[in-house]
Amino acid sequence: MNQSGRWIRMFKSMHFRVLILLLLIGLVPVFLMKRGILNGFEEQTVSMRASMIRNQCSRLNADIIDAGYLTDGTSDVAVDKELTQIADLYSGRVILVNSLFKIIRDTYKLDEGKTVIARELIETFQGKDTDYYNAENDFIEVVCPITEDTTKNVVGAFIVSIPTTDIILARRNLSRSVLIMQVILVLLIIVVSFYFSRLLVRPFGKVTAMMNSGGTDFLTDDISMPDYTETELLSEAYNQMRHRLQAQEESRQMFVSNVSHELKTPMTSMKVLSDSLIQQAQVGEVPNELYQEFMVDIGEEIDRENKIITDLLNLVKMDRHSPDIHIEETNINDLIGLIIKRLRPIAAKRGIEIALESYKPIIAQVDQTKFTLAISNLVENGIKYNQENGWVHISLNVDNTYFFVKVQDSGIGIPEEDQGQIFERFYRVDKSHSREIGGTGLGLAITRQAVLMHHGAIRVYSREGEGTTFTVRIPLRYSEQEQAEI
Ligand code: ADP
Repeated sequence: MNQSGRWIRMFKSMHFRVLILLLLIGLVPVFLMKRGILNGFEEQTVSMRASMIRNQCSRLNADIIDAGYLTDGTSDVAVDKELTQIADLYSGRVILVNSLFKIIRDTYKLDEGKTVIARELIETFQGKDTDYYNAENDFIEVVCPITEDTTKNVVGAFIVSIPTTDIILARRNLSRSVLIMQVILVLLIIVVSFYFSRLLVRPFGKVTAMMNSGGTDFLTDDISMPDYTETELLSEAYNQMRHRLQAQEESRQMFVSNVSHELKTPMTSMKVLSDSLIQQAQVGEVPNELYQEFMVDIGEEIDRENKIITDLLNLVKMDRHSPDIHIEETNINDLIGLIIKRLRPIAAKRGIEIALESYKPIIAQVDQTKFTLAISNLVENGIKYNQENGWVHISLNVDNTYFFVKVQDSGIGIPEEDQGQIFERFYRVDKSHSREIGGTGLGLAITRQAVLMHHGAIRVYSREGEGTTFTVRIPLRYSEQEQAEI
């Protein structure tokens, strides 16, 4: 794999995606945390400071009212001292304003006698507590009302401005500590994310390893990985697939061994026949009749071999997934008429009567060769496994979607326990009898395959000693798409 392929593979891996997810979940809060902590600290300190100032102002409220401090020209040494104390305590400035917005006292002595109009001041006179934090210029301004004892009317206000240099400094120190904490957390999160992302996807790796270790050996044990539902389902699916392949492999091996056996039998007979002719020739003159008889036997064996090979080839061609299918609009009544015409002489030799019953004309889309082969096999079996002077009845029927072919005989019947297997390749109920009458054990397998190729279904009903009925159901219109087997 080249470099870019390796990268793509890494990006697409679940391990990588889980890792990224864990990192995102872990790191985003860490980065947001700093801002939150610092802003929270600043807000809280500012608001604490403002409320402290507010407390101090409200304690002074009574003294100011009692001393008539807000009246022009009045001064009170105690109040002055307290105002200066507050200003000194916070290294700030305290301004006292009366109801006419005139500055009565300024601890900086700069603006006394001037009038001040500010939004905060107006709001305070309207009964609101206002404070204002100017972070850019590093100061807090708190405006507190001065109220009359009885009426609670706002008659003046304190404007206290204090610098926040100490808060900024504390914030800076805190920021440094938070940064160190962040670095530690980031490292910790990276390590933990790596560890957990590996841990989370490990069962998938284990499942893959288990699958690989099985390789193509069907005899290995089932795998099991119950860590996650997904890996459990995956192992179950894998086991099922393995069992299917195993069954397929067994059936393939069985087929190959059956084929070899079936092909060898006529060969062996031919060999025996020719050997005995040679032996006899060595001993003396072989009578002409014996030659003739043996040659006829050899000819029959060759025919048998031929039939097996033809049937095998037919079966291979009928593979359900084979594209080799030639569908044509066909008159089914005519086609079955032809099959009967061809088989009637064979039936007649044993006095067997063949009858066709058809209720309606049927036009359907079928592969004529394969369909003919399927029905011929059924009728031939009806003749082969019948008694002398028996009968084979074929009936045709149709509905909107399907047509039905029923092949019924008065023959020997099929034992119930064999009925499930007769469609298997090389299966015969009575091997020697079947071979005697020229059966290969492939006829019904070919029929079934041909019916399935047409997306149809086949069933057998039989009673030993009474006869057998095969019913075939095939859709009138052939569709590429496979239909459910019934
Ligand atoms: P074969 O070439 O031996 O006839 P088939 O696949 O056509 O092979 O049939 C399988 C077996 O099913 C036969 O060997 C026979 O025992 C049984 N069988 C099939 N058709 C009939 C029938 N109509 N009546 C009785 N037995 C049948």
